[in-house]
Amino acid sequence: MRVKSPALSTALLGCTIIALMFVFSAMAAQEPLTALLVTGQNNHNWQLSSPILKTILEDEGLFAVDKAISPPEGADMAGFTPDFAAYDVVVLDYTGDPWPESTRTAFVEYVSGGGGVVVVHAANNAFPDWPEFNEIIGLGGWGGRDEHHGPYVRWRDGEIIYDMTPGPGGAHGRQHEFVVTHRVPDHPITRDLPEAWLHVQDEMYHNLRGPAKDLTVLATAWSDPETGGSGEHEPVLFTVHYGDGRMFQTTLGHAGNLDPPPPFQCVGFIATLRRGAEWAATGEVTQPVPHDFPTEDAVRLRPRYKAETVEGLMRELAAYTYNDSLEPLVMLEELTRKRTGMDDPLDDLEEAYLELLQSDDATHDAKLFACKQLSLIGGRKSVPLLARMLLNDDTAYMARYALERIPESSALTVLRDTLPVVEAEHRAGIVTSLGVRRDTRSVDVISTAVHDEDPRVAEAAMRALASIATIDAANTLLAAIELKEGFQRCMAMDAYVQCGFEMLEARRTRDARDLFDHAYDFLKHAPLPRAAALRGRIAAAGRRGGEIILDVLRGDDEEMQAVAAAAVRELDNERILQDIANVLPLVTPPRPGAFACRAG
Ligand code: ZN
Repeated sequence: MRVKSPALSTALLGCTIIALMFVFSAMAAQEPLTALLVTGQNNHNWQLSSPILKTILEDEGLFAVDKAISPPEGADMAGFTPDFAAYDVVVLDYTGDPWPESTRTAFVEYVSGGGGVVVVHAANNAFPDWPEFNEIIGLGGWGGRDEHHGPYVRWRDGEIIYDMTPGPGGAHGRQHEFVVTHRVPDHPITRDLPEAWLHVQDEMYHNLRGPAKDLTVLATAWSDPETGGSGEHEPVLFTVHYGDGRMFQTTLGHAGNLDPPPPFQCVGFIATLRRGAEWAATGEVTQPVPHDFPTEDAVRLRPRYKAETVEGLMRELAAYTYNDSLEPLVMLEELTRKRTGMDDPLDDLEEAYLELLQSDDATHDAKLFACKQLSLIGGRKSVPLLARMLLNDDTAYMARYALERIPESSALTVLRDTLPVVEAEHRAGIVTSLGVRRDTRSVDVISTAVHDEDPRVAEAAMRALASIATIDAANTLLAAIELKEGFQRCMAMDAYVQCGFEMLEARRTRDARDLFDHAYDFLKHAPLPRAAALRGRIAAAGRRGGEIILDVLRGDDEEMQAVAAAAVRELDNERILQDIANVLPLVTPPRPGAFACRAG
């Protein structure tokens, strides 16, 4: 149809507009909000907390954070004049010396003019004698705060209570894990989050006091007297409207002596802080609910404070060398483990590792790690690249490591096809891998390798045939016993008998029995493998093993008699024990000890 109907054109126009809106909203989402993190003095470890707060806020490009670090305690504060007005939100990680008058004025003007403020934990200890500050933060603690500063605020019987009982403001009990319960589930900050979540070990503030004007308690936690708490549901997340400005406070986030501080790793703390900061900056929250948000029963931590992305971790991995921190490697292993547990697809991880393996910029150690990971998560997609790497001397070892463990049959085909065309060192490795996989389809190529000019290959081939243990594999080894000399002949004998034990292990009892019987006759002049063959015969005979023992004991081969006597311990056929007891003293040298032990 060449002529568009008007309805169709309009529909197309609508689509275009919607598409453009998506483009613009995506662009807006990419433009980070600006945050000023005020720190430099704190009765907590601000050197520890401030870089973490910056990491949390900047994660996924949400905020661009500048720091305003005050002069140290007792120093001249006159020059401390942060440009609050230049930012969407001011994050307070500060408690200490009073700011200069001009800075205080600028802060109040900034907030009342529509600025955003976030107060983290001990920042609510600051400035007890600055009335506007107390109004902005709603509730604070310590510094002589008492009933003159405002009420205690509690959650009792389903509602907020403003308690004017006289008393000091600000205290806490012992640190512990506790459940945070949202009281306003439809606020932008709490919307769609689980209503209750378990916070990691932290300090829970109680008995905070303040003007509490235009205050909304978003979440509370039970302050248990058993851990030194108040016996009240205490506010832990709350907001205040001050003029046109918005304040979000989290009383969580104690940064003490523990490094890293556990609260900052809690996804509940991280997510509510980020959501609170966005809301303070814009009045909206655009962040999705993190998939790793804690539940009421289970704490969830982010060891490095941010959502780990595959791309970010791969960038770190690409630069990894042996002596570097293992952190990105551990995180990638953790990611694999978590997602394997959750049945999440691992395709993107596999693709990321394959991309890294093809990158000229990634280190050898990074590629080694990638191959180890592909050995766990790799599938059909990984095989062609690993096949090419198998032909390269520098990467053959790591590629083989992965191919040996990838369950796809194409991985085995690659190993088989590559075997004839690589250096001896790698031939030996490939033969070993095929043996580890017990690949019955490889018996032919491995049988050829038994006669490889390089002894490492020939010996690996015999070991591999012993593991695969088909009849053909056993016959190849039997032929090798005749053709080989010296050490390799001994190896062929051992491998041949080992085949029998592999058959036994695989419950191919009849094959095993035939092989052991044949080996026992055939290896008459090789006492060690023959002894193993006798042990195999006895094991393969099951309850009839006693008869074989009896037969050998009645014979005249002293070495085999010793083996048979020792095997009596393994017998569980009581009936034949008496017959054996009669024969045993006649055996030279006598081995009554072994029997006495069993019969006693
Ligand atoms: Zn604290």
